[in-house]
Amino acid sequence: MITRFAPSPTGPLHLGHAYSALTVWQVARALGGTALLRIEDTDSTRVRLEHEAGIYEDLAWLGLHWPDPVRRQSDHYPDYDAVLAALAEKELLYPCDCTRRDIANAGAVPGVDGLVYPGTCRDRPLDDARAGDGLRLNISKALALISEKMRYIEISSGLPKEVSVTHDTLVRDIGDPILRRKDTGDPAYHLACVHDDAVQNVTHVVRGTDLRDLTPLHVLLQRLLGYDTPLYHHHRLVTDDSGKRLAKIDKSKAMAKFRAEGATPKDIKKMIGFVD
Ligand code: GLU
Repeated sequence: MITRFAPSPTGPLHLGHAYSALTVWQVARALGGTALLRIEDTDSTRVRLEHEAGIYEDLAWLGLHWPDPVRRQSDHYPDYDAVLAALAEKELLYPCDCTRRDIANAGAVPGVDGLVYPGTCRDRPLDDARAGDGLRLNISKALALISEKMRYIEISSGLPKEVSVTHDTLVRDIGDPILRRKDTGDPAYHLACVHDDAVQNVTHVVRGTDLRDLTPLHVLLQRLLGYDTPLYHHHRLVTDDSGKRLAKIDKSKAMAKFRAEGATPKDIKKMIGFVD
């Protein structure tokens, strides 16, 4: 089996990442497999090399090891362009220049990943794309190409459980996602992540429950691109004292801070309730 830890170097790793990484390596060990490290650095406006260096340091300090070379998504933009071209070939993409404000002003409703795109640009043909436009996936058209039932297997409870991916979830709760970002032209997380899981032969995706609601979209992309669907283990999240999920901007929970204060990996495990 192959699993992976796939942080984005947009801030220092915090205690939530420590829990996630330890869980990834724990699952790999339990199943006699390999844990990969992948750097998801496609948000070119927010990634920093110093944060990438911090990821290697923090993980090594926790006692985690990974095979080289580490896949850095920024080294693979031509791959993501090829994936976009394959979706364009199926006539599933359209250009979009809507800003967040345009989307909110169009009366968009909240979904599981921010506002559900209200479809303003949906009828624009691809050859109308202008420099700086983003590209969106037409979810309804994509679903029309898929005849069999979509599902994935959740293994977090120990007992494999089948989860159905429904039309409603995708259309109503997620909507047409951006697959290539406006202005920067960066590939979106969903696209790069699904492609990399496939090319790295990832069989088990271990990640937090914050991403569970996006797994249906990943399963849809896997179907469209002819990729296998891995098993999914969505683990609990580490919260702060008020029960809120930790965020990267909250530097007080950064692993590097605890390290500098003299904490040991054992102390970190205790703080986050991680049992070896
Ligand atoms: N890069 C994503 C993050 O840092 C995680 C992606 C994943 O595990 O699928 O939230």
